[in-house]
This record gives sequence, structure tokens and C-alpha cells, in this order.
Amino acid sequence: MKLDMHYYGVYALARMAGMNSSAAKVIAYASQYVDDAVSVEERINPVGGRLESEVTAHHAGQIQNLNTAAQRKVWVPFHFMPGGKGENLMEWLVCEKDGTLVREMLDHHLEVARTVDFGLELIGIAAHVYADTFSHWGFSGVSSPLNAVDAPSINVIRATPGTRNYLKEKEKSFFRKYNPWTPVWEDIQEIVAGTFAEEVTSALGHGAVLTYPDLPYLNWSFRYDYNDSDKRERRSNPGDFSEGCEKLYHFFCRFSERLKGREQPHMDFEERRGVIQGILETQTGTAERCELWVNAISSGELFASTNMDRELPEYDAKRWDRQRDGFEFLKNPSNITGKQVFHFYQAAALHRFYLLRELLPEKGIILT
Ligand SMILES: [Zn+2]
Repeated sequence: MKLDMHYYGVYALARMAGMNSSAAKVIAYASQYVDDAVSVEERINPVGGRLESEVTAHHAGQIQNLNTAAQRKVWVPFHFMPGGKGENLMEWLVCEKDGTLVREMLDHHLEVARTVDFGLELIGIAAHVYADTFSHWGFSGVSSPLNAVDAPSINVIRATPGTRNYLKEKEKSFFRKYNPWTPVWEDIQEIVAGTFAEEVTSALGHGAVLTYPDLPYLNWSFRYDYNDSDKRERRSNPGDFSEGCEKLYHFFCRFSERLKGREQPHMDFEERRGVIQGILETQTGTAERCELWVNAISSGELFASTNMDRELPEYDAKRWDRQRDGFEFLKNPSNITGKQVFHFYQAAALHRFYLLRELLPEKGIILT
């Protein structure tokens, strides 16, 4: 999923679930920042202290995508939550929509969030991971033959001419049957000189199908390479995204019920499903869809909006980057512990540890 869902959609759903505006803002910000914490950063405070970032994503084309450690520590825990189904590791790692493992993770984080200072940021990270299962299901966060798709089999249904043009442009710019995440593939090939030869012969994530799973309005179908039969996978992104919104809303309701003093009445999801569905199905760019969410948030169509909602700041990853960079100038370095970016690092570290060292090993999945 993209900015429209991870930030604006999450904000709206958290508000509908009774979270107040400032709490919803932190949750939504953390949810989107998972996609933006892409580099290893280190800041040193001359008074004493060192701050290291937590990396929770890589950009398409970053060489780290070919590194299996990055796949296991970044893509699997933050974007392709394994379903744990099947007979072997590659099958266990295939992401499952609203699967039992991701729901176990939600239960865990709901409990932890009550007891720590970084609870809102942890709920935001959980929301990102959970939301991604509604678009990334059927693919895994590692280079796997199970991710490879028969490219000519991809078929888009009921797309407007504008959408078809957009998809064609995307294809031109970086379609690769294998390693489609690496538009700078030629350069990388030289750099790694065959070191990762084995690792790169299979696709990572849903790269083989480009951004198709992340477009909320798209109806499409395709065939996996591994499937010799003519079995076609049919995807209704509007259906999956709408289900994802409803489940996220229920997750936020559970969280807001646990927060004493923060509860407000929940809005009825069913009554607002039509508004949300309308946003999801509009065949337009991400920026325009963000605008539709902003309008629905400020107009009161989804919940009784306040001035705070009408002034919801545009998402800007630099805001938390600046908190991190400011560490070097703090007179008292320990003041960083009160900043949201530090809470995000705490939450991301806990999430990664919990998944890779507790939950997945319990199910026999050992990745690190
Ligand atoms: Zn993601």
C-alpha cells in the first residue's frame, strides 16, 4: 500500500475508531514512516550519546534489496508478514491476508502498547504491517521462485484509458520478469559480480507484478510461474482494500477501548463504507487519492471533524528525520527519549525482535 492508505486512510480509520486527533496523527505518521526509514543513520551528541536509526524499508532499486539479510530483517517483518502455511520455508513465508500470525502479532502489540511510552508508534507500525497483508498476500518478502509471475498473463480488468496508460508507462520504466526491483540492474550486476547470483535469480516481493497490488482500484488477474496449470489468480484490490479498512478500524477500536480517558464513541463503519469504497475505487494517482481522503476527513463524512482534523498536516517524512538530526544539538542528549522518532525506533526494534526471535521461531520459522 502507499501513502494514501498508510497515512491518510489510517488517520481517518483511527479517528472513526474513537482515537483523538493527536493520537491518530502519531499512529498514522508511524504507519507511513515505516516506508521512509530507509537508511542507516548515526548521530553523535558531543555531550555524550549515539543515536542509530532503525531501517524498516528500502527504496525500489536500492542494492540492499538483493541482500538476503535485508530481506529477512526488513521486508519480511515490516511488509510481507508470513502466513506460516504450507510445507516448507518458502511456502511459510508467503504473506497471507489477515492470517493467524499477523493477528497474533496484533494481540501482542495491543498488550505491549498499553505499557510503554512508544505505544502509539507501535500501533502505527502494526497498522502498516497489517494493512500490507491485504495487498501483498500471495507474495513473500524474500527472493523466491514462488513470487515469479508469468508476465504476459497479467490482465487488467475494467481499467480506464488513463489507468492503462499509467500502467504501460510503469511497465516500460522497470518491468523485469526477475529482479524487477532493480531498475539499475545493469549497474548492480557489475558491482556484485555474481556474488549474489543465486539470490537474484528469483523475484523479491511482488516486484514481478510491479505496483499492481498497491493500487486500491485495480481489478486484475495473473498466473504464477510455478503453477503449470492454467490456474489464474484473480484479484479485486477494491474488495481487499475495503476489507483491510474495516479490519484496521476494528483493530483501532480495540486499541482505543484499552486507552483510559482517550475513548470517544466509535463511528459505525458500515454506514461509512460507501464513502471509503468511493475513495478506493477512484482510478487516479496517489496524490489525488490523498486529496479525496483529506476531503472526507475534513468534511465530517467519516466522523465529526474538528479544527485539528481540518488542519491535518500533509505527511512529510523529513519531520521525524529532523528530530533525529537534532540529536547532535541537544544540550541534554537524554531528551531524545521524548521524541516521536525515538519512540518509532524503539517500536520498530521491538517489532523486529518479537517477530524474528519470538513469534516466527515458535512456528518453526527461523530467519535470523
Ligand atoms: Zn509496506
